[in-house]
Amino acid sequence: MDCLFCKIAAGEIPSTKVYEDEQVYAFLDIEPQAPVHIILIPKTHIPSANALTEENAGVVGHIYAVAAKLAKEQGFAEKGYRIVNNCGEDGGQTVGHIHFHLLAGRNLGWPPG
Ligand code: 5GP
Ligand code: ZN
Repeated sequence: MDCLFCKIAAGEIPSTKVYEDEQVYAFLDIEPQAPVHIILIPKTHIPSANALTEENAGVVGHIYAVAAKLAKEQGFAEKGYRIVNNCGEDGGQTVGHIHFHLLAGRNLGWPPG
């Protein structure tokens, strides 16, 4: 599968890993938009939120639980953070493997651009 994030999850392309288990891989974004900018991905290839079904969406809940664990461990749980999924062209998705941005360390503002 010619997919950047599949290759990152498999270790074929280097990344700065922050968490890994059987289902999920998390790593630092190469172009951070906040003092903390972690990308969380399922190890299985799901192209975008559009491809979620009752059968494969369980990993999304797991990703949120991992994000909450990282927030506590890294000390920004109290102050707050944002989890973002960009879907499709208008959503700003640039990599075709579903991923969740975990952003923290500054006031993030609302609404997003
Ligand atoms: P999207 O724009 O699709 O929501 O998010 C893709 C994210 O992946 C961007 O924030 C971008 O900086 C990050 N990214 C793209 N290529 C790489 C890479 O090779 N390594 C890492 N660590 N992050 C990447
Ligand atoms: Zn993939």
